[in-house]
Amino acid sequence: MDKTQILRAAEYLKDRSQSIVMIMHTSPDGDAVGSSLAFYDYLLNAGYSNIHVIAPNPYASFLHWIPHHDKVIIAEKEKEKAKDLISSASILFCLDFNGFSRVNHLEKVLRDSKGVKIMIDHHPGPESGFDLVFSDTDASSTAEMVYEFIAGLGDTEKISLQAAQCLYVGIITDTGSFSYGCNNPRTYEIVARLIEKGVDGAHIHHLIYSTYTIDRMRLLGYCLSERLTVMPEYQVAFIALSKEDLKKFNHQEGDTEGVVNYALAIRDISLAVLFTEKNNYVKVSFRSVGDVDVNKLARNYYEGGGHKNAAGGKSFRSLEHTVTSFISLVKGSS
Ligand code: 5GP
Ligand code: MN
Repeated sequence: MDKTQILRAAEYLKDRSQSIVMIMHTSPDGDAVGSSLAFYDYLLNAGYSNIHVIAPNPYASFLHWIPHHDKVIIAEKEKEKAKDLISSASILFCLDFNGFSRVNHLEKVLRDSKGVKIMIDHHPGPESGFDLVFSDTDASSTAEMVYEFIAGLGDTEKISLQAAQCLYVGIITDTGSFSYGCNNPRTYEIVARLIEKGVDGAHIHHLIYSTYTIDRMRLLGYCLSERLTVMPEYQVAFIALSKEDLKKFNHQEGDTEGVVNYALAIRDISLAVLFTEKNNYVKVSFRSVGDVDVNKLARNYYEGGGHKNAAGGKSFRSLEHTVTSFISLVKGSS
């Protein structure tokens, strides 16, 4: 991590009584939650007291065991409190996102805040408007970058077991448990340091991946047996879920996480999509292998973005319309 940038951040961080806010992107994933709470824990350990963590909306229950989960302010539930904290903060750490629209209903208050905005993120194409930008598309996760940031400050001894657990969550969830986006030895060096802090990798893996409710497991089965369409001639597979489908399985936040990966796991499929009908839009989730650039696809057609091989966006057409136009897009672009 750039030393000059770290020194600038250290300068901003001098006053330990100032108000510091960590903010996550909408529908925060393990990396957003893990990196924000790890940084929160570090700041606590380093003697800062006026610190808060804000998520625009709730996150999946398989992350609710994470250290400091109870400290996260869910802006959808505590709107005024979240907005006041953001507008009055001296420093805002924007973790795991690089554009203001990613915080949805908090976009305006974040943009308008006079606080110093520090981005730590690993997605391509960071937007302008941030005061200090740590952007590294080669990093496996924002959690890895948070570790490097703390290391740059010379403070790794202030990473507690709790912070190490949070960072570990960020790294494993963004790499599919070390199966993609982590071909750099540095990721494993950092993981080694986290294990030295006492992280129990097998236990964390269990908490995240083996705590399905029965409804969630049956929904996964239903997605694969009833809602999966394969277009082998285009190497495309997709799953489309309606609101009724979700209701049938008593859908909870996070229940469809990981479903799209199953479509990508089919032999010779290089593009997988999950369409999920929400109240006012259809959420579109992309995964790909090799040179199929889903970041571009999400940016060009679905008002979204992400990484080359994992991205997301939205469609404001009906579910049916969204699916038919996606099929036309696939057929047209071949
Ligand atoms: P997921 O499909 O798991 O929701 O998201 C996959 C990746 O795409 C993540 O890196 C996430 O940050 C990004 N992503 C998901 N939805 C959006 C979106 O609406 N806009 C942007 N810019 N990125 C998104
Ligand atoms: Mn991430």
